[in-house]
Amino acid sequence: MSQFGRVVLATANPHKTTELAAVLERVLSGWSVEPRPDGLPDVIEDADTFVGNARLKAQALVRATGSSALADDSGLVVDALGGAPGVRSSRFAGEKASDADNVNRLLADLAAAGATNPEERSARFTCVILLLHPDGTEVTVQGQVEGVIADQPSGGGGFGYDPVFVPAEGDGRTFAQMSADEKNSISHRGRALERLAEVLTN
Ligand code: IMP
Repeated sequence: MSQFGRVVLATANPHKTTELAAVLERVLSGWSVEPRPDGLPDVIEDADTFVGNARLKAQALVRATGSSALADDSGLVVDALGGAPGVRSSRFAGEKASDADNVNRLLADLAAAGATNPEERSARFTCVILLLHPDGTEVTVQGQVEGVIADQPSGGGGFGYDPVFVPAEGDGRTFAQMSADEKNSISHRGRALERLAEVLTN
């Protein structure tokens, strides 16, 4: 795939940029990996799937730069809420909602649904990463981590829904109670990145 040469990242999040660039530079030697150019308008993420939203972001970037583009989209899927917040995870409690607003809305909706036992509070984080080339070909990978939604927030690390997400393969702590390395080793994003590395090197 070395004929494409340059890949531009869609994310404006510096933490994700570092993480993605590290993997891409390892598995795509010879490629130049570049951060999102300044001044590009935000993409309206109105698709109803994670893949659809990642594709919208990547398409906008390919159009703007003429280069290959890599976009990710992620969110929390809660079974008792029919899959919500899903693609609306970042704005679950409203367009300008804070992480705390979204967590409070999630806990309120689960209480309203009568989902009080851990087995009724199953959930998973999903992350899709999509690499789109100017010729329209694309590579899509996905990572997931299963868990349950706690009754109340715990821990000061991470972001988003981390204070209420207890991964099934952990020891009962929430993602927000884990170190970044511990979370990344089992997280949806870490797994999608591993998968991307596998797919691009094969
Ligand atoms: P995006 O993929 O950056 O658009 O993330 C969508 C939303 O999903 C975030 O704003 C968070 O609310 C939620 N989310 C995605 N990944 C995580 C995570 O690792 N921890 C907590 N919340 C997350």
